Amino acid sequence: MSELIQAYINGQWENGTGGTAEYRSAYDGSRLGTFSVCQAGDVERAISAARSAQVGWAATPLLDKVDLMYAAYELCKAANEEIAQSISAEMGKTIRESREEMLQYGWGHFRRAAEDMLRFRGMTMPNSETRSNSKRMFVQQYPLGVVGVISPFNFPVDIPAIAITYALIAGNTVVWKPSEYCPGSTRRYAQVFQDAGFPAGVFNYVPGYGDAGEALVESPDVRGLFFTGSTRVGRKIAAAAGAGLKRTLLELGGNGPIIVHHDADLDRAVEATITGCFYMAGQVCTAAERVLVHEDIHDLFVAKLVERTKQLKTGDPLDEATDMGPLCNDNVLKQVVSHVDDARSKGADVIQAGELTGRLFPPTILVNVTEDMLIAREETFGPVAPIIKYGDIDEALQIANSTEFGLNAAAFTNNLRDAWRFIDGLEHGTVLINETTNYWDQLAPFGGAKSSGLGRELSSWALGAFTETKTIVIDIS
Ligand code: NAD
Repeated sequence: MSELIQAYINGQWENGTGGTAEYRSAYDGSRLGTFSVCQAGDVERAISAARSAQVGWAATPLLDKVDLMYAAYELCKAANEEIAQSISAEMGKTIRESREEMLQYGWGHFRRAAEDMLRFRGMTMPNSETRSNSKRMFVQQYPLGVVGVISPFNFPVDIPAIAITYALIAGNTVVWKPSEYCPGSTRRYAQVFQDAGFPAGVFNYVPGYGDAGEALVESPDVRGLFFTGSTRVGRKIAAAAGAGLKRTLLELGGNGPIIVHHDADLDRAVEATITGCFYMAGQVCTAAERVLVHEDIHDLFVAKLVERTKQLKTGDPLDEATDMGPLCNDNVLKQVVSHVDDARSKGADVIQAGELTGRLFPPTILVNVTEDMLIAREETFGPVAPIIKYGDIDEALQIANSTEFGLNAAAFTNNLRDAWRFIDGLEHGTVLINETTNYWDQLAPFGGAKSSGLGRELSSWALGAFTETKTIVIDIS
């Protein structure tokens, strides 16, 4: 039997007070292990440890903090494969996708955060007391204090890793509430902080459910909150955090369109749609949740997309040959099924599907999708390509912007003027031309417009989110 997964509080592994819970394989439901469940009291102990450690951590010389980050980077390298195997078993993305999560994204945050901090600059400015010229003014960034991190199942390590590394290097201490679906991979990542030698209380890990997250949101001692998850939970958190005037960085749901214009390179647009709709079985915030296709090339594009979709191999996420694994849990499965049923009942046609086996939802293509269908309005989070026909750019923009979401949007065209009409007209945090919606770059700011989020992460933007700006005025007269 595998060991019980515990919480990491103030430099010690210990049990939460909420008993234990089993966690299971997303693919076949087999038992993977047991974790100890943290409740509000455990989270408060972790916050208190983080608070006690924060002043000393903030005062630790930057180069010492950077050394710890580099040590963690090396230790994480040795753990990457183990973490990737765990992610695939727990939440069902393929092993190739899990390796990508660790090798291309999650692992590197230790280094990027350290290097961004080494180049993080304050600012000096002139003053308006020009006659005496006696004021010297500048701004400097200070840590917020204790930062709470609450993370989702779909990138169980990479997403929290951004917030944890950037918050820590900026002098904050951290309490992390991981996804309840992924205790194995997140526990192994938490181990890296202990092995690297981060002082007790600087980094804390509290596995548990939504109530443990709520305790972080409600604590007056948590000054900054990083939440990634659904817009439904994000709204609740925004309300509670707003009432406490906490600094928040919220990364929420999406319903991003891919637009295929009449002059697009169709083969390229098909590949981008395959990645946009079926990567990680569609369980990505930046997934192409709607495919808007110009009427002149609609039938040809759809025929090519169907052919390419038929080649996808679904199955065991730990099999190296699998292209698409199962959905993570029954809530997601229920939602995907209900969105497809709703679309069919309102006139959409399923032109490519397959057998639903357990949580293995087949890659599915719908045509004749209209804006009134749930699949076009809400986030589906499953392997479905809902195709909507449009006539001109104005109509494409109207449809693309018609939902509450605004995370990533992509347009395929070879005309520069039309590309700029899409760039200017799409109300999204990232607009991609001739690239899939599922592209985001570790060196560029990332985040949502409208109900898809608040603030930007990745790159040095994340340092802005986890620091307070202090204006300093010195009178030298
Ligand atoms: P979720 O909202 O169900 O849960 C996210 C986390 O919040 C979990 O750790 C959960 O335990 C916790 N939680 C639940 N209720 C809470 C409460 N009342 N207070 C505090 N914490 C609470 O999301 P999920 O199903 O794990 O992840 C999928 C969602 O995440 C999708 O909507 C997806 O679009 C979104 N997401 C967004 C981004 C982005 O960058 N914008 C990235 C990844 C995922």
